[in-house]
Amino acid sequence: MGKIIVITSGKGGVGKTTTAVNLGAAMNLFNEDVLIVDGNLTTPNVGLHLGAPEVPITLNHVLRNKAELFEAIYEHESGTKIMPASLSLEELKKLKNNGDRIKHLKGDFKKISDYIIMDSAAGLGSEAQSAFDVADELIIVTNPEMPSITDALKTIKLAEQMKKPVKGVIVTRVRKNEHEMTPDIVKEMLEIPILGMIPEDSSIQEALASKDAIVHTHPDSNAARAYKEIAARILGVDYTPEPIKRKGFFSWLFGK
Ligand code: ADP
Ligand code: MG
Repeated sequence: MGKIIVITSGKGGVGKTTTAVNLGAAMNLFNEDVLIVDGNLTTPNVGLHLGAPEVPITLNHVLRNKAELFEAIYEHESGTKIMPASLSLEELKKLKNNGDRIKHLKGDFKKISDYIIMDSAAGLGSEAQSAFDVADELIIVTNPEMPSITDALKTIKLAEQMKKPVKGVIVTRVRKNEHEMTPDIVKEMLEIPILGMIPEDSSIQEALASKDAIVHTHPDSNAARAYKEIAARILGVDYTPEPIKRKGFFSWLFGK
């Protein structure tokens, strides 16, 4: 039986989808069987991140009883499996109140892969709560800024109320400037373990433009290394990033 880890946040736009996609892809690099599910039905992005923006059968169809779960699974060339949600507004409207049916699929999801990484909607509304319902564990994503941390705190309280274990927090878009909250303060405020810190990295945008995960397109980038470190920690495997090889002036000059 697989484990369902839901990636959630209080505030929107903090890096949840980037984290779901890269954590899932990084776990797959460590030879795990991973399915990344787009549980953010109103504003789905997982397909866009992994080169499957428009697919005929999506999670929406499964929720409307129009398809079986396995029919909405697509395999990325890396071997990572993904289940996109529909980008169509019409499909979303047809879904009406069926979004919370996802909780009935929990057992079926767990049969598909060893790890199911589910992206979800931000906030504390019904869509976010539906994803909590299917979760075995939650990972909270935040930026090192006060609005994002206070919203993360509310998410943690909701998780407590719903009796869902929180594995920890991933702090993303870390710039290490003087205005940011330090890891110590984040830990003190949220009272949960920090699973890792992802630096602000322009390779993330480059990876998105090439519709792939940064752990595939820029494996030696700082953000990719950070995601691989978190994946290794979750899986309990050893991972020592290779030292970054910097090209000196002469190698640039003669390397061509
Ligand atoms: P959410 O799913 O929480 O709305 P996204 O994963 O879509 O957030 O990220 C929001 C924006 O931030 C995207 O444009 C994404 O490319 C960018 N982003 C996320 N993480 C990083 C990072 N570590 N460095 C730079 N940009 C990032
Ligand atoms: Mg998102």
